[in-house]
Amino acid sequence: MTFKKTPFEYEEIQPMWGSLPERFMPVWNIYTRNFYISSYVCPECGRLMAKTVFPSDYSFQTTDGAKKVPRIFVCGNCQTFHIPSPGYKLSSNNGYYYKAKDYDEFEKLVKELDNAGSTTGRRNTLYNEG
Ligand SMILES: [Zn+2]
Repeated sequence: MTFKKTPFEYEEIQPMWGSLPERFMPVWNIYTRNFYISSYVCPECGRLMAKTVFPSDYSFQTTDGAKKVPRIFVCGNCQTFHIPSPGYKLSSNNGYYYKAKDYDEFEKLVKELDNAGSTTGRRNTLYNEG
């Protein structure tokens, strides 16, 4: 899996339970322990993405070489993975993305990331973004 430079512009919303419009509801059909709702909407379908935070930076292969990042955002509807550039927010729009080839690959990757991830925010990164 090689992440490509993102062509997308990312947008954050403030999700509030009980008042989250149906069109933002994340799609998430895989049992995970360490993914939770993020404040970023998927640039393709407009639903909220799930995120996990890595206790130590996780390395992803990109078209610009390996990039170590503190968190990843995932759309369960589009089966896409989105990472910020190291030291930037996702909304800096200079990160990378990867679209799973099929559902099996998506599920396998989500489970790998779930094992590596955590729900505990990190204080030692430049941005503790939602
Ligand atoms: Zn999507």
